[in-house]
Amino acid sequence: MARRSSTSSGDLTCSFCGRSARSGTLIIPGPDVNICEECVDICSRIISENAPSTGKSNGASALPALKVPPPAEIKAFLDQYIIGHDHTKRMLAVAVHNHYKRLNQPIGGKSDLFADVEIEKSNILLIGPTGCGKTLFARTLARLLDVPFAIADATTITEAGYVGEDVENILLYLLQAADMDVAKAERGIVYIDEIDKIARKTENVSITRDVSGEGVQQALLKILEGVISRVPPQGGRKHPQQEYIAINTRNVLFICGGSFVGLETIVRQREGRQTIGYGEQHKHARKPTAKDGRPAPLSVQPEDLIRFGLIPEFVGRLPVITSMSEMTEDDLVRILTEPKNCLVRQYQKLLAMGGVSLAFDDDALRSIAKLAMQRKTGARGLRAVMEDLMMEIMFEAPGNAKLKDVRITAEMVSALDQDGGAAAARLLA
Ligand code: ADP
Repeated sequence: MARRSSTSSGDLTCSFCGRSARSGTLIIPGPDVNICEECVDICSRIISENAPSTGKSNGASALPALKVPPPAEIKAFLDQYIIGHDHTKRMLAVAVHNHYKRLNQPIGGKSDLFADVEIEKSNILLIGPTGCGKTLFARTLARLLDVPFAIADATTITEAGYVGEDVENILLYLLQAADMDVAKAERGIVYIDEIDKIARKTENVSITRDVSGEGVQQALLKILEGVISRVPPQGGRKHPQQEYIAINTRNVLFICGGSFVGLETIVRQREGRQTIGYGEQHKHARKPTAKDGRPAPLSVQPEDLIRFGLIPEFVGRLPVITSMSEMTEDDLVRILTEPKNCLVRQYQKLLAMGGVSLAFDDDALRSIAKLAMQRKTGARGLRAVMEDLMMEIMFEAPGNAKLKDVRITAEMVSALDQDGGAAAARLLA
């Protein structure tokens, strides 16, 4: 709650942040400088975080230490919800395990052999086509660890001073996900989507501003690294009279994702150059394939991302880079039926609540996957196809005594082309 300055002079300003006593903030005057209550608050947190500690947690607050499962357990949990991407699962399991262990580690104790070694945080970059499960990865990890989770879209963020969202709003979403509990938010996970869309564009001709490129990367740098950020609790643009909530991003895990169209060419060119450098004959590196026939994930190096248009400092804040390959038709069939909350089970549950049983023929599942592949939106296409297919059935079946057992056939899926779900539903009779 803001209090009035107790000084008679109403125009005192804070020498640190410039806030004026007129804004209702208490300003404490000193012989040469003044400080406002919010800066005192921020300073005391910096002091308590940097104070030599005797074996206390390195976490952001007095919250109990998080239970951090070993990487193999994290992977096994991811396996329950996410199909494929084995390599990414392993990388994320290790990165997330280390990240949260770093939060829990005791620091400064006499027995700590590595007291001087600070483990840096490992934000993550997920590269993969749309609908391959990048957001799902971030969300599933947050669920496993039971930490607050927020999603932001990099394309809506702008540099301070331009129309759009301030970077701090990302942290506001996280705070909201933590029920405004700062300590909880400070160990949450933030997923920033479409990070490839803020790449610097060399053909950008605007000389006055670069709202969607380098400026935004610069704005994101600090919070990715760890800073005490002042978040306006009402969101929107900052203004001097506003009160702020201070949140330290030092322990927030940022996972950035993007499809990075065009990156493959950059990687292949580099690989080609390296191959030539080693004196081999082929001019073009062949696209490697994994054992199961799917294209192997790209082996992306930081320099490729810099050539793509990310600034080196930004790439430096994302030490864990993993790329995911496109979903195959087989993956899509598995996604329909295998994850714990797969679409088939979701529809079965919905209909079972009305006393209706639902089954899918194998070739019907295959046809749904084929249709989804044509939409080129990865696994996202599955939901769209299922919605079309099931809408009329969901309308007809509950309360219809003749429809107690619904079986979806391949013929019904092909009927989607004619008349959407209506034709499919007619085939039920
Ligand atoms: P992205 O963030 O890569 O664009 P999403 O994570 O939003 O993709 O995926 C969209 C939806 O597709 C998810 O909610 C999930 O239901 C499904 N999905 C995508 N990839 C997978 C996967 N590998 N395993 C299981 N489900 C997936």
